[in-house]
Amino acid sequence: MDNHPLIDWHSMFMGVALLASARSKDSRKRNGACIASGDYKIVGVGYNGLPRGCDDNDPAYWSDDDADPANSRHSYIVHAEVNAILNCVVLPLTGSTIYTTQYPCPRCVQSIIQVGIQRVVYLEKKDHQVGLNAASAKMLTDARIDVLALNELDVPAAAWCTELSGFIARPRR
Ligand SMILES: [Zn+2]
Repeated sequence: MDNHPLIDWHSMFMGVALLASARSKDSRKRNGACIASGDYKIVGVGYNGLPRGCDDNDPAYWSDDDADPANSRHSYIVHAEVNAILNCVVLPLTGSTIYTTQYPCPRCVQSIIQVGIQRVVYLEKKDHQVGLNAASAKMLTDARIDVLALNELDVPAAAWCTELSGFIARPRR
């Protein structure tokens, strides 16, 4: 048994979020999210990508001109958290936890709150995004959502997930 240790729930759910992120075609940042119910069932998984039917090979969708909404990827990409909510297999999500590879942006926070998710566990946070992070934190606090970095919740799970993300990032044949 020692050679096959059980991973804990936090590792499993964040691990699923990381695996989902490996499906993302976004070259700038690949994110994943996994929603788990209070009784440890996975109810939704998502990664950041274009809406269904939008051609991944159309470069207009991946443009970086943030001054022009028609030529900015921010107008087109559905974030991992929102995709996980939209892909969820059961409703309501009241009391569930969303595991997300990135601290959620304000738009995702709006959806997280409105759908009844009670807890956010994130792997990393872009500290330079001061304004966006502050807006997210303000709404999450007012809505009384518990927010935890995985490494403050479960140090071994965070270490295991860092190892897994290194493995996923490794170039493959
Ligand atoms: Zn977002």
